[in-house]
Amino acid sequence: MAEKGKMLQKGKGGMRMVPVNESSASPFTLPEPFWIPDAQCQSCIQCQGKFDFLNRRHHCRRCGKCFCDTCSSTKLSLPRMLYVDPVRHCAGCTGISKKENDFFEKHVKALLAGGSFHVNQSGETNDNDTVFVCKLSPDHRHLHFENANRRLDDISMTDIDAVQIWTEENDSDGMWVLEF
Ligand SMILES: [Zn+2]
Ligand SMILES: [Zn+2]
Repeated sequence: MAEKGKMLQKGKGGMRMVPVNESSASPFTLPEPFWIPDAQCQSCIQCQGKFDFLNRRHHCRRCGKCFCDTCSSTKLSLPRMLYVDPVRHCAGCTGISKKENDFFEKHVKALLAGGSFHVNQSGETNDNDTVFVCKLSPDHRHLHFENANRRLDDISMTDIDAVQIWTEENDSDGMWVLEF
């Protein structure tokens, strides 16, 4: 399934959907790690099991280190490296990717659909007109703020210094606080 401006690419780690033009890459994208060459890993760095004909080495797609099949058997989505299908993860990377996938599933999806934001701009104190619908652009590069009366300048995701997300138990979207 091809998306506009993207192409399927088959790499050493699996199929990836990459932007045709680097300038339209999502700011959430992570580069693929350097893969430790086979000759430099004779045993699994997790369980120390020696690699041979039966105990094959596998690379964790997230950190690029060598593991045996058992120690890298978890398959997870890795959207930040643009993989199409779930890919092999070591135990250490599994926790990180699970947290990130949660962020993509809950918050990035909600922002792409659009959510209400209170915008407090410095210098505007007595302004009641502060609720805007905020939408993330499909390439994740800009936040667009608009309400019935006006439209703010788009904010580039790379200009955002801090994101705080407050989630209440019965509120699946949570509340975002952005600083820029
Ligand atoms: Zn192992
Ligand atoms: Zn790893």
